[in-house]
Amino acid sequence: GDVPAGVSDAVAFIAALRQAPDKTVLPIGRNVIVIGGGMTAIDAATQVKLLGAECVTIAYRRSKSEMPASLYEQEVAQVRGVLIREHLVPVAFEQAGGVVSGVTFARTRREEGRLIPTGERMTLAADQVLIAIGQTLLASDLADGGLRFENGRIAVDAACRTSLPGVWAGGDCVAGGSDLTVAAVADGKAAAASIIAALQGAAVPHHAGA
Ligand SMILES: Cc1cc2nc3c(=O)[nH]c(=O)nc-3n(C[C@H](O)[C@H](O)[C@H](O)COP(=O)(O)OP(=O)(O)OC[C@H]3O[C@@H](n4cnc5c(N)ncnc54)[C@H](O)[C@@H]3O)c2cc1C
Repeated sequence: GDVPAGVSDAVAFIAALRQAPDKTVLPIGRNVIVIGGGMTAIDAATQVKLLGAECVTIAYRRSKSEMPASLYEQEVAQVRGVLIREHLVPVAFEQAGGVVSGVTFARTRREEGRLIPTGERMTLAADQVLIAIGQTLLASDLADGGLRFENGRIAVDAACRTSLPGVWAGGDCVAGGSDLTVAAVADGKAAAASIIAALQGAAVPHHAGA
């Protein structure tokens, strides 16, 4: 159904926060629920808590030990007062007059390696909900040209060359990366060196023939 007011994307929230000249005008709830278990969930929850939210809860569908965010990152949020709750899958937003009033979750448990709902449901009150359930590369947009993929990301060699001659790739969109800014910058550097080498290599026979 319709998403009530007060529910937003955590990455958009962080972008707005980073770019706000005056952080006091950002809309911050009292009871905030962050849905997800990665770096974005940790960042959003920690920032919203530091900006004055009274009660901030990260709700994750699996156990804490399975969170993409490391124990260190979980601690970064927890020492600032963020509560992390595990085994909760969101099933519905509760609302009053078009504004979010809570999130209803289905409890899960692990059985023979699979995550299954226990049948129990619970509702946590919230006046702000941030969704941090990950971003993925839309490989389908790029697949037409014959680009090779690996685990849903662009396959590259050490010089950041893709399977298409004349096309290099780097950063979060490539397979085997670490999803860090420093890695994206290093890829850019490696790709630039490889592009220069390719252009110079291509130029030699041309000049030799001229
Ligand atoms: C909340 C959060 C916190 C993070 N914290 C850290 C941190 O503390 N340290 C760290 O090292 N990393 C951190 N990261 C990861 C870091 O942001 C990324 O690894 C880095 O931005 C990757 O750079 P990139 O250039 O590969 O991709 P991006 O920075 O995602 O850039 C891709 C660009 O391509 C654009 N784009 C997408 N599709 C198209 C299209 N079809 N046509 C044209 N343009 C398009 C996008 O709009 C975007 O501007 C964090 C990420 C998030 C979300």
